[in-house]
Amino acid sequence: MGFDIVIIGAGIAGLGSAIALRNKGHQVTVLEATTELQPVGGIIVLQANANRILDGLGVYQALLPSCTKLPQGPSTRRYDNGEYLVKKPADFHEKEYGYPLWPLHRAELQRVLYNAAIDRGVAFRFGNRVVSIEDDDTSVSITLADSQRALKIAADVIVGADGVESQVRRSVGSDACSPIDSGMTVIRGFISEDTARLDPETAVLMEEIGLWCGPKASIAIMPVRLGENTLLGFDCCYRRDEVIDDEQGKEQCVKHLGQFYGEFDSVVQKVLFQAEDVRTWRLMEAKPSSWGGGMALEDGAVLAECLERAGHLKDISGALNMFQMIRQPRCTRVQEWSARKGRRATLPDGSEQMERDTNLKSFNGWMKLGATRNIGELPEPESPAWKPWLSGYDAVRVANRELDRIYGT
Ligand SMILES: Cc1cc2nc3c(=O)[nH]c(=O)nc-3n(C[C@H](O)[C@H](O)[C@H](O)COP(=O)(O)OP(=O)(O)OC[C@H]3O[C@@H](n4cnc5c(N)ncnc54)[C@H](O)[C@@H]3O)c2cc1C
Repeated sequence: MGFDIVIIGAGIAGLGSAIALRNKGHQVTVLEATTELQPVGGIIVLQANANRILDGLGVYQALLPSCTKLPQGPSTRRYDNGEYLVKKPADFHEKEYGYPLWPLHRAELQRVLYNAAIDRGVAFRFGNRVVSIEDDDTSVSITLADSQRALKIAADVIVGADGVESQVRRSVGSDACSPIDSGMTVIRGFISEDTARLDPETAVLMEEIGLWCGPKASIAIMPVRLGENTLLGFDCCYRRDEVIDDEQGKEQCVKHLGQFYGEFDSVVQKVLFQAEDVRTWRLMEAKPSSWGGGMALEDGAVLAECLERAGHLKDISGALNMFQMIRQPRCTRVQEWSARKGRRATLPDGSEQMERDTNLKSFNGWMKLGATRNIGELPEPESPAWKPWLSGYDAVRVANRELDRIYGT
């Protein structure tokens, strides 16, 4: 049966869920606080697990023109001399995990998902900030706020996809998930393709997904498409010593970049100091359920599979419990590993950094031997099984296997 579903938030999670649920025949309305989609953000790298979901949703082909196909990467390099610790041809990922890995601009992903949701008949209400949710055991309603009035909307299911500062999470009283400052800041910026191609040293960066790991700071550099243009994007992640203003202007950003990247490879410096557009974000962590872009797409698709098992309104809460049970172990592990990976990418030179680099170099050897896919097991971070578990994963298939087992179908 088709339910009335309200999704709060038109980010990657909200839009992916909207398409997945609409594809299953539900009535879907998305409430978004901003008055229109905002083309903000920077690089998002979609791996095979996310591209598999996008294909299942029927939006993969529409996304292809927005993705940058590159001959090299992802590679990992030492910060000061650019020595490669891991170097991979880009087609490796697709051969091993069934779909490619490629970078794109968050705004492009959001735009393509939004257009696909509109085409399928999802209703959108922009400028609708949710302030509270009331659940009286027989129905759930949402209160919206704008400057003049408060509205109430009833729904069979409400999906909270309102990001790291989620109002939905607060309304269901889950303090454990309140976001905390990770101590890391990310500065995202771009230079134009023309500027990058003027210098042979920066021109080669247009062919690669690259990450440089250094003390206190790391930087990822790769090309992304935005509308008709290709840009060379960078994501600088650094451990800040003091709390800084998130709303910095370009001059302040560049000052911070100088402080953290002064000893980096000369090509990194060239990119940073030609930056034409830079913005700062403080990276927040919320445990256990603040899940990243790829995880958000998996979540939406699995939510739709779980709700399909609910024949009546009374079955919804059971289906939502199934969703929680299926998704929590994977998302918790991915989140823990992401936080750990962020710390490991910014180790000072020393024994731990040397152990990390030896480990990374061994990935080249392991890669050539071919990966095994232990997708049913939770691997230890940095074990050879980690990457196939993350990227080779088929979230919809795994979910249905589990649902068949539980529902006996
Ligand atoms: C502006 C922005 C830029 C980002 N840039 C990048 C990037 O460059 N690279 C990267 O890897 N990740 C980026 N992220 C994070 C990444 O998009 C998310 O972590 C991930 O995709 C999960 O998405 P989400 O949909 O859960 O959350 P989000 O992407 O945060 O989306 C949440 C949505 O909910 C809306 N919302 C919030 N509160 C309410 C409310 N009370 N009522 C109604 N609507 C509400 C927000 O306006 C937003 O549209 C960015 C996030 C944001 C918000």
